[in-house]
Amino acid sequence: MENILDFSLKELKQWMKNNGESEFRAKQIMDWIYKGVWQFDLMSNIPKSLKEKLNRDFSIYLPNIIDVFESKKDNTKKLLLALKDNNLIECVIMNYNYGKSICISTQVGCRMGCKFCASTVGGMIRNLSPGEMISEILVAQKVIDHRISNIVLMGSGEPFDNYDNVVKFLEIVNADYGLNIGQRHITLSTCGIVPKIEELAKEKMQITLAISLHASNDLNRQKIMPIANKYSIKEIISACRDYIDQTGRRVTFEYALVKGVNDSVEDAIELSDLLKGLLCHVNLIPVNEIKEKIYKKSSEDNINKFKEVLSKRGIETTVRKEMGSDIDAACGQLRRSYIEKTQISEEGC
Ligand code: SAH
Repeated sequence: MENILDFSLKELKQWMKNNGESEFRAKQIMDWIYKGVWQFDLMSNIPKSLKEKLNRDFSIYLPNIIDVFESKKDNTKKLLLALKDNNLIECVIMNYNYGKSICISTQVGCRMGCKFCASTVGGMIRNLSPGEMISEILVAQKVIDHRISNIVLMGSGEPFDNYDNVVKFLEIVNADYGLNIGQRHITLSTCGIVPKIEELAKEKMQITLAISLHASNDLNRQKIMPIANKYSIKEIISACRDYIDQTGRRVTFEYALVKGVNDSVEDAIELSDLLKGLLCHVNLIPVNEIKEKIYKKSSEDNINKFKEVLSKRGIETTVRKEMGSDIDAACGQLRRSYIEKTQISEEGC
């Protein structure tokens, strides 16, 4: 049985053809699904004979909601979801004045091994399919009873380690038959897998590319991000330059400030030299302290100084507002604490 959420309109039309049905039925079914009707039997304009075939070949697979956590501070909601194979993932719904934004997971766990990140504890279990990523949004919209207009791929997982599924997901959420979310309302965050940045540039999408830089030189980066042993900052910036040329889009650099590791004035100067002249924006993130890791958050004073150095040197910089800090909203934290609480082993969930 296939998950119909994994299908693009083109693929569903092909299925119709192969099964002796009219192609226009594909669009009707997509309309129902993305309107929130998730049983073929409830699709009133679909003939009974086709419903039978659909029930035979497809499921509309949605994850089970294990828990919903709501921040008392800012109304951020975090969902803990169980997939068909009982693997757990999480997504976060945030309220902004421009609308509702969702942070989704792209993999169960992550194998990138960043030293400050909870998603990597326990490694990578498996990739999510395009439909599983879509279902995070569908379920979230049902929970809040509101349309989600913005997506960030910043939950658990490395999107470029699951490239084909992520690109297909982006196509479906952007399509007018799908969720119809504009590409400019989508941000993909990567730890910097250079060949995939180059590949995405060729797709000529208008999404925002965010690079998790977190250090101003390779030596420091290697201490906190194993991927830095494979690709240098120079290679990353060159790939970003190409991405900007191909798409005209401004790139975001994420920089999690860790006390005593990457938050000195010298680091800020080095970072500003790296990014000089590039169409970019720096997002400073006070590191979220997680209990499995020793890293501590920079002081507010240091964060402000760091920002000031960058701004004075012409680099547009913002400090990320912490959302849902009272509900373990940083990626991977919720899943970890649930696994520990319920004593489910990584293999077993
Ligand atoms: N793998 C992708 C996307 C997932 S992580 C990436 O590396 O970009 C999303 C962002 O959260 C990344 O910038 C990541 O480095 C950051 N992050 C992870 N753990 C964090 C923590 N404990 N505190 C602050 N930011 C964190």
